[in-house]
Amino acid sequence: MFLNRVEVSFDAAHRLLGYNGKCASPHGHTYRAEVFLSRLELSGLDLGVDFGDIKQPLNQWIDAHWDHAFLLNDRDQTLICALQTIPESKLYCFPGRNPSAEVMAATLFHVLQDKLGCDLQRVRIWEGNQYAEYAPDEERSDVGVRS
Ligand SMILES: [Zn+2]
Repeated sequence: MFLNRVEVSFDAAHRLLGYNGKCASPHGHTYRAEVFLSRLELSGLDLGVDFGDIKQPLNQWIDAHWDHAFLLNDRDQTLICALQTIPESKLYCFPGRNPSAEVMAATLFHVLQDKLGCDLQRVRIWEGNQYAEYAPDEERSDVGVRS
């Protein structure tokens, strides 16, 4: 098996709604998204995946939705209303979910799966020095988060 990995970094803010601790306060991170693709065979050009085919849609989606955005639980109406008073605010809401690295990884996995329709294996979201990863459980396809 051949494994390819593409990475993009971005800055975003978030907070965890209902969290008992300092993550309840709005704060920011430099995130890294790592996308892993696997192929059993190489193409005619001896590539597993053409990195450009992944990087371009990945970068476009991150730039449009998450980079320099506020990532929010859509139930966090207090913060959403406050940010909507700032016209330059860029908001991305997760339906009924907190903007944790786990939810971000699952969301990005499904976005890329829909966009690329290829051999996506897993997505890892680094939040500072720690990461969460999402890989679909082939025996339990009901697990995960869809945006
Ligand atoms: Zn955080």
